[in-house]
Amino acid sequence: MKVAVLFCALLHTVISAPVPDAEILTYLSEYGLLAENPSSPRNLQSNMESYIVAAQQELGLNATGILDEETAELMRQPHCGVTRTWRSESPRRRRFALGNSRWRRAPVTYKISNSDPTGQLHDTQVADSFRRVTTLISTFTLAAFAVHDPNSALHPEVADIVISFVPDAHDCVSHFNGSVLAHATYPWAGGDIHIRQNRNWTAFIFDAVVWHEFLHALGVDHSEFKNALMYKTYHAPEQAGIFFTPDDMEAVQALYGRKKIDADG
Ligand SMILES: [Zn+2]
Ligand SMILES: [Zn+2]
Repeated sequence: MKVAVLFCALLHTVISAPVPDAEILTYLSEYGLLAENPSSPRNLQSNMESYIVAAQQELGLNATGILDEETAELMRQPHCGVTRTWRSESPRRRRFALGNSRWRRAPVTYKISNSDPTGQLHDTQVADSFRRVTTLISTFTLAAFAVHDPNSALHPEVADIVISFVPDAHDCVSHFNGSVLAHATYPWAGGDIHIRQNRNWTAFIFDAVVWHEFLHALGVDHSEFKNALMYKTYHAPEQAGIFFTPDDMEAVQALYGRKKIDADG
């Protein structure tokens, strides 16, 4: 009898919610799901709910712990491999969060260490994408950026932010899996950006991905605001070419100061 009741309950769960397939499990593993006790499916099942809650909170969804269609759909979209580890004290939702560190020098230097091995993106396109995002950030904050020049006495020996195309398995705690396209570390952890190689990059999605990662490398965490550049899943901006929302701009300004714009122009 007990078995029959359990079976019915399981069947009900399976019918009413998407099944946590390999892609969903990979997504939840970013929160530590599989690290806990991969040999025990029962442990996995009983802890699943708390990991779904963590993922839903980061995605700005209702934290029900139930894998509904909306949650599953978002988990399958191309997304960033950074998982929020530090949460704002503020109960306000749909807002940026900060990663608890920032660069304390100007200019912050960056270096693109290798080329896209597929050759889909030319070096000039990649360099241009970072030139545009750094120029843009400098228009509304006090942050300043420079391409790292090892011959410049003004620059540190090593670039602050090192950007690389890397294979799925590389020298990082998290390898690239599922729909992850890139990840980055906060300034306190080095501030480097890893871009997944052998992806089908177009210039447009490349901007969305690396601009998002650049903000992580400056110390910005994920936003729960779905239109923000810093939302965990990458997406096309609402208006062509407008990647930064006020939410993203406020996040960078909170770390690097706001550039006063002369009202008279
Ligand atoms: Zn991210
Ligand atoms: Zn990495």
